[in-house]
Amino acid sequence: MSFRVQPKGFATKSIHAGQEPEQWKSNAVIPPISLSTNFKQNFPPEKDGFKYSRGGNPTRKVLETCLAALDNAKYGLTFSSGLGATTAVLSMLSAGDHIVVGDDIYGGTNRLIRQITSRFGISATFVDPTNLEAFKAAFKPETKLVWIESPTNPLITIVDIKAISVICHQIGDHITLAVDNTFLTSYFQRPLELGADLVCYSLTKYMNGHTDVVMGGLTMNSDKLYQALKFLQNSCGIVPSPFDCYQVNRSLKTLSLRMEKHQSNALAIAKFLESHAFVDKVLHPGLVSHPQHEIALQQTYGYSGVFSFYIKGDLKQSTAFFKALKLFTLAESLGGYESLAELPSLMTHASVPLEDRLKLGITDSLIRLSVGLEDSEDLISDLQQALDIAAKA
Ligand SMILES: *Cc1c(COP(=O)(O)O)cnc(C)c1O
Repeated sequence: MSFRVQPKGFATKSIHAGQEPEQWKSNAVIPPISLSTNFKQNFPPEKDGFKYSRGGNPTRKVLETCLAALDNAKYGLTFSSGLGATTAVLSMLSAGDHIVVGDDIYGGTNRLIRQITSRFGISATFVDPTNLEAFKAAFKPETKLVWIESPTNPLITIVDIKAISVICHQIGDHITLAVDNTFLTSYFQRPLELGADLVCYSLTKYMNGHTDVVMGGLTMNSDKLYQALKFLQNSCGIVPSPFDCYQVNRSLKTLSLRMEKHQSNALAIAKFLESHAFVDKVLHPGLVSHPQHEIALQQTYGYSGVFSFYIKGDLKQSTAFFKALKLFTLAESLGGYESLAELPSLMTHASVPLEDRLKLGITDSLIRLSVGLEDSEDLISDLQQALDIAAKA
């Protein structure tokens, strides 16, 4: 098994891109947190340069430059949350426009499109993006945006981003393909390389990785998209705080190290679970048993720490399992250094209607893990003892 080979230079970019000490009068090696809401102007005022912190902020600019570099993108933008970034993307649309959306996407994105965007006369078709014929058939003359995620959550389905981008671009230049890359980060997957126009992040998750900031980001190569989204970032006021920008910028310095460890821990655990008698099935793209294992190897540089598995039994057994866990914390969210476990049917995906949940396979025996950076032996022992208890429940 081998994923794509990571080209050299990622860690160097994460540490140095946008961080030049010479940009500060003090030559500070670590970018300062610039809290000022306004900036003294020259007269006549210059077109570029900082004026008011919603429109542009020095600490934010450092982070946006670094973010763009990690995706080999021309531009990066940050927002007050992942959904804030999504709001900006959806705000490029007008009444009458149509969106094609992957049917197994983040619940908050689903809610935003179904309950908010729809009120502004923008319609959406939800479709399985692994079924390319059905995907093609979902387009209408008024389609402007395509929104997909790979892997999906919590079923960890891999979408062939290149195949999707070929279809989008055959249809025409008026289609923007946006890929939510939260689960893999720029370290393991760079959708712009695969033909996407726009990459969206909940920086709250792996990119920050320390479970202490809520933020979103976008990267892109197109000047037109950048101008439109920068305008919306300022006009809608969906901006992050300078302190949070400082934190995320700092977190990116260890992104490659963290992702390598998330990957090796998660793979060791996935293999352990696959061999356990009380585990029915493990959904991890690094395993040969995963239905889209080959696509995962072709389009990604590795895999992160979130994956799911089915235990034998039902709610009674999963309840016993969660009660028995000592090291894994029962909590929503993902991508931090601490290991988490959750039951999507009652937690992250409880708002999905029962019928849809069952159709997708989100049962009471499906458990999602976000494997952290602890020692893998300790994590495996914890799962082992909890599974032993669940098996007797
Ligand atoms: C968490 C998450 C979001 C939303 O991000 P927030 O920062 O919580 O607003 C979007 N997409 C995915 C895949 C996520 O996991």
